[in-house]
Amino acid sequence: MERSGQCVCGSVRYICVGEPERVTICHCLWCQRRTGTAFGAEVVFQEQNVSFSGLAPASYRHTSDESGRWLEVYFCPRCGSNLGFTLEAVPGVRTVPAGTFDDAAFLNTKHVKFRHVFARTRREWSELTSEVEVYERHFRPQWRKSAA
Ligand SMILES: [Zn+2]
Ligand SMILES: [Zn+2]
Repeated sequence: MERSGQCVCGSVRYICVGEPERVTICHCLWCQRRTGTAFGAEVVFQEQNVSFSGLAPASYRHTSDESGRWLEVYFCPRCGSNLGFTLEAVPGVRTVPAGTFDDAAFLNTKHVKFRHVFARTRREWSELTSEVEVYERHFRPQWRKSAA
C-alpha cells in the first residue's frame, strides 16, 4: 500500500509505504505553536517507509523542555508547510502530518488507531460542542466560489 502527499505549494512530495502505526493527536503547547493551531495530527510511520521527492525538506532541531531530547521538524523550504518530524526519543520513526495526504480517507478510526496525548493542555474550543457555533462551510456565503 502506498499513500502520497505534498506540501501546500507542491514542491515537496512524499510516498508512505505500508500501514501507519497510529495517528497521534498532540495537544501539547509545542505542537500548538509549531502548527499555529489547537493540536498536531501526525501519522506515525517507520522512517524507512517514507520517501520524499522534489525539493528536499528543510529542518529545524528543537530541544523539548519536557524531556530534554531533540525533535527534528521538517517543512517545505518554499511554502513552509509542516512535513512532520523525527524524534530522539523514538529512533526510526517519522511522522507525516495527517492533513498533507492526497487522499486522507484511510485515516479513519475504524482503520487506524488514534491516540490523544498531552490532553492536559487541550483547548476547550477545539471540540465541537453545543456551546460553539458550527457551520459545514464558512459562515460568510460570499466566501464560496460557487453555489456547489
Ligand atoms: Zn511547499
Ligand atoms: Zn505535541
